[in-house]
Amino acid sequence: MYVTTYFEEGDHHHNRKPHLVFVLANAESHGLSRIEPEPYTCDCGAELTPEILDTGDEGKVSWPNCKSWRNGGQKRCPECGEYPSIDREQHIRARGYRPTPKSEIKQITATQREDAMEKTDGQCLVCNEEASYVVRMVPPRYGGSRESENLAPLCDHHYEDYGHMFADILVPPEWNKIHGAEWRPLATELRDQFDEMGVDRVVETLDQVLAADKEQEWGDPFLYQNHH
Ligand SMILES: [Zn+2]
Ligand SMILES: [Zn+2]
Repeated sequence: MYVTTYFEEGDHHHNRKPHLVFVLANAESHGLSRIEPEPYTCDCGAELTPEILDTGDEGKVSWPNCKSWRNGGQKRCPECGEYPSIDREQHIRARGYRPTPKSEIKQITATQREDAMEKTDGQCLVCNEEASYVVRMVPPRYGGSRESENLAPLCDHHYEDYGHMFADILVPPEWNKIHGAEWRPLATELRDQFDEMGVDRVVETLDQVLAADKEQEWGDPFLYQNHH
């Protein structure tokens, strides 16, 4: 379920453009499947994770949807100083998501695009300007579906001038990856908004995740599912 859009500011120091973060609740309903993150091994034998690669090359920030990251990272292994050869699917697994092989990815059909546009009356999901693009909130390589639940109509500005990313409000660890974002204040704010709107089911779920987060139980990324 799409909840709202969070703006992540760009970072000139890291040569990173601003990102739109599609805030979702239960990203699995958009086609995502989570797995135990799988580290990959450098030719030198070092076990690498996105975080370890960041320490090897702080000039470039890991970011699952950024080109530099997708194209094998262009980051040096901190052990041997070489650029490890890592394919895109390995990157996705290292992030804790099950990748969809490129050969299995299907394009969005004209009908699916029209349905998505209809849902927003042809307006950008973010600013209500006229939309000219339709993107998947959870990208196809991450299993993102072609259902209108996962499709975001965007205007030229919000398509061209931003990177695009998703994060699940019910999965606090996912927010560590977002520059400047703090999960707890955002989750609390959303909880209050849903409370005002009377969406009890979401309020109840957010209350549970907020309570568990307070007890720092969230080594488990599937935390919210255990409460049902
Ligand atoms: Zn190495
Ligand atoms: Zn827009």
